[in-house]
Amino acid sequence: MADRVLRASGAEVPVNVERIARAHGLEVTYRPMEETVSGMLVIKERRAIACINARHHPHRRRFTLAHELGHYLLHREQARVFIDASPIFFRDERASEGTDHREVEANRFAASLLMPEAALRELVGTGPLDLFDERAVQRLAMRFGVSPQAMTIRLAMLGLGGC
Ligand SMILES: [Zn+2]
Repeated sequence: MADRVLRASGAEVPVNVERIARAHGLEVTYRPMEETVSGMLVIKERRAIACINARHHPHRRRFTLAHELGHYLLHREQARVFIDASPIFFRDERASEGTDHREVEANRFAASLLMPEAALRELVGTGPLDLFDERAVQRLAMRFGVSPQAMTIRLAMLGLGGC
């Protein structure tokens, strides 16, 4: 799904996640919320609104928005409200079974959208990147507009990071 979205929008980095979200019909708002809340997605009638915690770092806000877009594209038939807060993930209606699975999917979608595999492979080049080389990871993270933590996880998942 993330690849399809990127193909439609162009995948130059840093990926303009806000533009992509709006192009898919999501309204995007930023509000100061409690520290533990990253954001939420509310679907009502024909509107879908992603509300992102304005207090968080811009890189984290980008990831949260990409995560909410993931819920919207992948899970909107399953629930109308998604609240992303740590450590609890709340969802309306039906029981909580399947919630974790959806969170994993939304996170995977967000990582794939913000750190497109092809662009990442091109920048890393040959040989795995040393995941303990903080400056190298930081440099890549800045390039993609994500946190070093998100970048480290993505590199490890793609087998591009070693140590
Ligand atoms: Zn979520």
